[in-house]
Amino acid sequence: MSDYDLVIRGGTVANAVDTMHADVAIKDEKIAAIGLGLGAGKREIDAAGKLVLPGGVDTHAHIEQVSSNGQLSADNFESATKSAAFGGTTSVICFAAQHRGDSLTAVYEDYAARAKRGAVIDYSFHLLLTDPTPKILNEELPPLVKAGSASIKIFMTYDLMNVGDEGVLDILLKARELGALVAVHAENNGMISWLGNRLVERGYTDARYHAISHPRGSEAEAFHRLIAFSELIDQPVIIYHVATAEGAAVIREARGRGVKVYGETCTQYLFLTKQDLVKPPGEGAKFVCSPPLREESDQEALWQALALGDLQIVTSDHAPSTLDENGKYAHGANPSFKKTSNGMPGLETRLPMLFDAMVSKGRYGVNAFVKWTSTEPARLYGLGGRKGTIAIGADADIAIWDPDKRVMLADDMVHDNTRYTPFAGREVTGWPVTVLRRGEVIIEDGACPAVAGSGQFLARKGGEAAKPSGRLSPEFDPKRNFGAELY
Ligand SMILES: [Zn+2]
Repeated sequence: MSDYDLVIRGGTVANAVDTMHADVAIKDEKIAAIGLGLGAGKREIDAAGKLVLPGGVDTHAHIEQVSSNGQLSADNFESATKSAAFGGTTSVICFAAQHRGDSLTAVYEDYAARAKRGAVIDYSFHLLLTDPTPKILNEELPPLVKAGSASIKIFMTYDLMNVGDEGVLDILLKARELGALVAVHAENNGMISWLGNRLVERGYTDARYHAISHPRGSEAEAFHRLIAFSELIDQPVIIYHVATAEGAAVIREARGRGVKVYGETCTQYLFLTKQDLVKPPGEGAKFVCSPPLREESDQEALWQALALGDLQIVTSDHAPSTLDENGKYAHGANPSFKKTSNGMPGLETRLPMLFDAMVSKGRYGVNAFVKWTSTEPARLYGLGGRKGTIAIGADADIAIWDPDKRVMLADDMVHDNTRYTPFAGREVTGWPVTVLRRGEVIIEDGACPAVAGSGQFLARKGGEAAKPSGRLSPEFDPKRNFGAELY
C-alpha cells in the first residue's frame, strides 16, 4: 500500500530562503509531505547527491507570436515549452499579442487555443496592448483580466508597438481599476529611431551598430518617465529587461522613495556583452536583441542590483528566430541591424547558465538562484504559494539537479526551433536531470515524454505586487487637488 504517488528520496531540498535534507512526497499533483522517513510512493526517485529545487518560472517568453512586421517566432507552444522543460523550467508566462486594429478578445482566444494544444508546461498570458482604444480598455480588457490574465504588457518604443505617453497613462489608470500589474518595455523611441537612421545613412549597418543605435540613456530616460507616470496614477509597474547600470540606478532611487516599481533582467545581459555582436558578416545577427547587449561593467551592476533587491527576477526574454530567410536572414545573409529580427532563444539555457554562476561557482548561492528564477517571478505575477516553492500544498513542479554534471552548451543540443544558443561553447556545471510538472515526470534520461497539451492554463490574480501603494499623488488626491475626482 503506497501512501503517495511519488516520493523523491534523500535529496537536498532548497527554496528561496532555506535548504534542508528531506524527502518530498507527491499526491494528486501536489506536494503532500516534506520530511524524513516518509511512507512509500507508487514510484520513488533516488535523489541522493542531488539538489531538489522548485521548477523554474519564466515570466518573459515570446511563444508562437507574430511580430509587428508579420514574422512568426520560430517556436510553437510544443517546441518552446519542451525546451523550457529540458532546462528545468515548469511554468511560463508568454504573450497574447495584440496588433493595432485587432480585437484583444480574438487575439487572446487564438493564443489560448494554440497553447492548449501544444504546451507541456503550465502557462499564462500577459495581455500585450498596442491599441488602447476606449473599446479595448473598457469592454475587452476587463473580462480577460478577471479570467486570470492579470498583467498587461506595453511598449514605450517601436513605431508599430508604442502606445505613447497618454496611452501609457490610460493603461496605468485602467490597470489600477482592474488590479493588474503593468509590464513595460521602456526605451526612448525617438532616440533609437533617430540614431538608428543616422547610423544606416552613414553605412554603419553591421550588427555591432545595433548596440550603438539604442543609446544607453534611452533606457534611463524612459524609466524616469515611466516611474513619473506610475507615481502620478499610483499604479505598480515592472520594467522589463533592465540592461544598464544607469537603468538599475533609476529603479533603485524610485524604490528608495517607496514607489512600487519592480525590475527584471535577463540571462543574456548577465553573460553577454556588445562585443558578442562583433562577428564575421551575418553572424552577429544571432546576438541582436533589444535592448542590446551592453558592457561588462553593466553585468556587474545588474548582479549588484539583483543582490540589493532593486531587480527581483531573471527571465529569458526567449524571442526565437531561425537562422534562415524566415527568421534572422529575412533581409539577406548579412542584414542591416535595422532589418534583423530582435531577440534570441533562452528558455532552455536560462537556468543552467545561472545555476553554473550562482550555485556551482558560488555567486549568491542556491537560495538566491531559486528566488530570482522561480519564487519571485511566481510571487510577482500572482502565482505565489502555487508555483516557485517546494511547500506542502504547492503544485509538485520540481527540478532535480545533478550539481556535478558538466555540459558543454552547443547549438545542436537545444530543443527549441532556432537550433542555436547564444551560449554555445560554454561549459556549465550542474544540470536538471529529472523534471516534474504537477507530479508528472516530464524530463528523464534526456527525453521529454510529456504529451503536447498536457500543460495547463494558470489563471492569475494581480497579487500583492499589483496593489497600489495607497500613496496618492497630489494631483489625484482629492484632499490636495481642490476636490477633483480623477479615479
Ligand atoms: Zn520580450
